[in-house]
Amino acid sequence: MMLMHILLVEPKYYSQYPPLGLLKISAYHKMLGDTVELIHGCGLPKYKPDRVYVTSLYTWAWRPVWEAVRFYKAMYPKAEVWLGGLYASLLPDHAAKSGADYIHVGLFSEAEDLLPDYAILSESERWRNWDGSIVFTSRGCNNNCGFCAVPLLEGKINLAKRSIKHLIWPGHTKIVLWDNNLLQSPYWRDILSEIEELCRDRNMKVDFNQGLDAALITDEVAERLSKLRYPGRIKVRLGYDYKAKGKFVKRAIERLNAHGIKGRSIMVYTLYNYTDDPEDFFERVRNVLEWGACAYPMRYEPIFALEKNKYISPKWDPQRLEMIQKFRRIVGSGGILPPYNALIEKFKRAKCFDEAFSIWRKKQ
Ligand code: SF4
Repeated sequence: MMLMHILLVEPKYYSQYPPLGLLKISAYHKMLGDTVELIHGCGLPKYKPDRVYVTSLYTWAWRPVWEAVRFYKAMYPKAEVWLGGLYASLLPDHAAKSGADYIHVGLFSEAEDLLPDYAILSESERWRNWDGSIVFTSRGCNNNCGFCAVPLLEGKINLAKRSIKHLIWPGHTKIVLWDNNLLQSPYWRDILSEIEELCRDRNMKVDFNQGLDAALITDEVAERLSKLRYPGRIKVRLGYDYKAKGKFVKRAIERLNAHGIKGRSIMVYTLYNYTDDPEDFFERVRNVLEWGACAYPMRYEPIFALEKNKYISPKWDPQRLEMIQKFRRIVGSGGILPPYNALIEKFKRAKCFDEAFSIWRKKQ
């Protein structure tokens, strides 16, 4: 078989994380003996590629993806251009109009269990100092939240791993878990044991990046979480998407508190602009603050949205959506609403959304 030169392209959209799928594809092709290059946006590679892989992220960030496909297709008409990633998997027909030769939907199964090629990040100005191993210990989720793309794309919990040590890059200091619902994995105890070991023996820190299911935070889970090391102030992220979930969120916070994970170490995503209305959202934020955790208002975007922040649900209006943004900017800290006394009091006294989210006036 002829060896190939592979070009991996991360389009020019904003992301906090390096393109994990491309790093796995890099590992796969290097295993076959191919040479691989990584480029951010549209640029000139060192060598002429035989195949180009372009990744994608949110559906609303499709323009830089099309731009990259067209750029490399025009520059290397003989190379096959493959387009994969989240946007391509959710909207393959739309993605096909980019001009890519092949649209890849879902995971690249040949590479799924390989150690991603983090070494290739040294070629990228943007990711040169990255030092976290990003790991999925499982895919999918057994819940069926209507606002979430996971059940649609990955189905119920599957591909659960009992061990993740082979996915940790030597020298990395962080483990970034991207599981959708780690605590639904049949092997969550084994995984937490390994993470405990990595924290203890290799001085690593863990980031449960996609949050933990509040309904599954038992005393045992809370105790085990309290023994781990974390890279930042936030240790546990939970979701409070609708009122009926409140009893689980409250119980989870109490259990975490009992094991020393308190206050600003807990962040609760509070979804809005979905099926809720402003008063429902206000109550959920008030609950979170009263329970002593940080609230992180999260605006709902339809799964297939091609434009960001355009959707307004029937029970919301542009003014109130803007009030939340302004409040987070002025009163919050990095968009987070922390449980400090003045804010808790403001929300306790407020009778409605408008009162709670109005900005304090200076005393004359
Ligand atoms: S629990 Fe989380 S991952 Fe699972 S469906 Fe709901 S939002 Fe998605």
